[in-house]
Amino acid sequence: MDKVKHYEYLIVGGGITGAGVYRDLVLHNKKTLLIDKKDFMSQTSSQSSKMLHGGIRYLEHLEFSLVQEALHEKNTWKELAPDFTEELEFFIPIYKNSPHSFWKLYAGVKLYDSLSMFRNRPSGKLTKGQLLKKFPHLNSKGLIGAITYHDVIIDDKNFGKAIIESVSESHQAHTLESTEIIKISEESPFTITLKNEKQFTITADEVIFCTGPFTDKVMKKLEFSWKPKILPSKGSHLILDKNKIDCPNPVVIQEKNRIIFLIPHNDFVLLGTTELKLSPGDNFFDLDISEIEKKYLIKNFKHYFPRLEIENAIINQTAGVRPLVIKEGISENQAPGAASRQHLIFHPRNNCSILIGGKYTTFRKMAADVVSQIFSKRQEIYYPHLSLKPIHKSKS
Ligand SMILES: Cc1cc2nc3c(=O)[nH]c(=O)nc-3n(C[C@H](O)[C@H](O)[C@H](O)COP(=O)(O)OP(=O)(O)OC[C@H]3O[C@@H](n4cnc5c(N)ncnc54)[C@H](O)[C@@H]3O)c2cc1C
Repeated sequence: MDKVKHYEYLIVGGGITGAGVYRDLVLHNKKTLLIDKKDFMSQTSSQSSKMLHGGIRYLEHLEFSLVQEALHEKNTWKELAPDFTEELEFFIPIYKNSPHSFWKLYAGVKLYDSLSMFRNRPSGKLTKGQLLKKFPHLNSKGLIGAITYHDVIIDDKNFGKAIIESVSESHQAHTLESTEIIKISEESPFTITLKNEKQFTITADEVIFCTGPFTDKVMKKLEFSWKPKILPSKGSHLILDKNKIDCPNPVVIQEKNRIIFLIPHNDFVLLGTTELKLSPGDNFFDLDISEIEKKYLIKNFKHYFPRLEIENAIINQTAGVRPLVIKEGISENQAPGAASRQHLIFHPRNNCSILIGGKYTTFRKMAADVVSQIFSKRQEIYYPHLSLKPIHKSKS
């Protein structure tokens, strides 16, 4: 039998949350193993709207500290990873019947800039004429003008992979894809059974679950005493041909209750997202867009761009599950208000942590919170500056 390998830390789940925790631990010189049942960044973290952003719509719910934290992270990554981030001007066209007025939104974007400590490039406004010059295919009926603000776009999959690879040269860094956790002992040092094409055992002092929307299912399978916490909400996008959809800058489409983004990337234009409640029993892996979601996105796109033939421009799709966490003391039937937008840390067993919720943008802060909490318990020093190491694209 092979010798059992010991790690100081095992991280289960290689989406952006697990990637951030792994990087922080390796930068602190801890012997760490990161595993994922599938490929790293293959689930939610490659199906996002591909923005690092403060979340302008949370201002409506007066979630100022949340927006401020995310804006800080967005602008930090803009500086630390310029090869992976691009700051773009987002346009919010305003119509006579838009759910929010011109001046309300103008005040909103100014507040957004101030919450960024003016690290955002400045927001602004355009007349109808100026806007139609930039977007000649935009529906002009009832159009008043536009408000603009700045956010960052990324390639979520490749940026996440770069976060993992950024520490790959350390002898403390160990990774395994296509490896599922199937059994864990009650106490630390934990004996853990992992399965890929083989089944084998490792041991670890601390285990951190970063399994996002899959967390309740993983806890059930591992027979933890755990009250389900995920409010699974599916979000899908359509990927459009750049040659067929003329979109020089991101456009924010205001629907009655929510917003939909149309965002140009290097090779495609991204349209989304949707919001569809899932049942805990549904499969969350490798999802597809449904016909209802597709129709919803097409309909809203056509309100804004009636002359563009979107049906012929669809080249692909994405779909993922938001890892929304139910707020303490609230019933899940009270959703969407029942979902906490903050990340949360749980300890279902001693030396075992669960980090869920939050968003892609805030992964560095999420990692810092869980790692510093564990270090404090172990009476070790946490160095916050380590995760501020810049990341560059490899030359090859
Ligand atoms: C449609 C949509 C749009 C979004 N847009 C944005 C955006 O623009 N900006 C933003 O900041 N945030 C956005 N978010 C939120 C963001 O994408 C998520 O918060 C983030 O990606 C969650 O990452 P995660 O690592 O927690 O989960 P995941 O990326 O899902 O990672 C969890 C991992 O756990 C693995 N796993 C599961 N079970 C096991 C097991 N038994 N053993 C081992 N591994 C296992 C899975 O394979 C998976 O890789 C969006 C989310 C959605 C759904």
